Amino acid sequence: MPYTVRENLSIGNIGDAAGILQNDTVHSVTHILSVLSSASISFFSEWRPSLSIPAKEITKVHVADAGASAAKSALAPDKLLYSLEYAGRDLKLVRMAVPLRDTENENLLDYLEVCIDFIDRGRKEGSVLVHCFAGVSRSAAVITAYLMRTERLSVEDALESLRQSCENVCPNDGFLEQLKLFEGMGFKVDHSSPIYKRFRLKVLGENHLSGLRIDSSKFGADPGMPVEISSGTEETTKVENNRRPTYRCRKCRRLVALHEHVIDHVPGEGETAFGWNKRRGGNPFNKSKESDCSSIFIEPLRWMKAVEEGALEGKLSCAHCDARLGYFTWAGIQCSCGSWITPAFQLHKSRIDISPM
Ligand SMILES: [Zn+2]
Ligand SMILES: [Zn+2]
Repeated sequence: MPYTVRENLSIGNIGDAAGILQNDTVHSVTHILSVLSSASISFFSEWRPSLSIPAKEITKVHVADAGASAAKSALAPDKLLYSLEYAGRDLKLVRMAVPLRDTENENLLDYLEVCIDFIDRGRKEGSVLVHCFAGVSRSAAVITAYLMRTERLSVEDALESLRQSCENVCPNDGFLEQLKLFEGMGFKVDHSSPIYKRFRLKVLGENHLSGLRIDSSKFGADPGMPVEISSGTEETTKVENNRRPTYRCRKCRRLVALHEHVIDHVPGEGETAFGWNKRRGGNPFNKSKESDCSSIFIEPLRWMKAVEEGALEGKLSCAHCDARLGYFTWAGIQCSCGSWITPAFQLHKSRIDISPM
């Protein structure tokens, strides 16, 4: 039986969900959030062959609503797939299936907002069951994030609170790290936050190292190329950027990066991927003494031809005058301040002009 976490919110395993979908248990559930390795509803029938679930797929959506500016960024979320289905005869169940494996490097963060919205809506309209296969890691991670957001709790406190309803919940370590990032971003997935940008770059780096080809659609727009103005939002973005630093090739003055492409790190810290959370309290990024660093690090941009060609490392040269601007390596590099940046797309400050200083 599912465990009640809050009014109209419960957590369970695949058996609990199957029971409800088959209508063979007495329940008040109106919404099911399935967090399983396959989003397909047929997953259930493979698991229990006798189970046939009449289902109508309502929508199958690619989620990429990161906003206008993030759409130009390499660090915008991948297109996420989720489906919203009605299942059952007279059941009137709303089900959303999120494809997520229970592994440490699975990207939980990019699904959190859609999951939290679904739970919110479900609790208003009825009662929600969040389930995964065992009801231990994935569903617990999602509900922990929900409690963090709605009750302003730290990861530890939210998990502790969840354990009072269901004692054996245990999100995997990778999910816990990501929930820490969620906490660091103020209980939301903020695509403009350095925390999120680093996370996305780390995911991109892991994809590259595991042999996945990173095509240039994953790269940020080239600021040196004219911007297509399709709507008012582009204009606004440009105006905003005027007040922020821009980075140009020192030799030919070609624009090579904007403020939004820079990925800050804390000078002198070790592994930066998730290292920020070792510092408690305050925003460590505001304390950066950039003068300690002889380079800035940015996200991969479309002018970086060598990156696009798939090399593991190489020079970054100006797309206009071919002057050497820096270096990139997917394997990571140490900044002059001592911090490790992985992967690294580095521009030497001596090769670029930063304006306004
Ligand atoms: Zn540094
Ligand atoms: Zn140049």
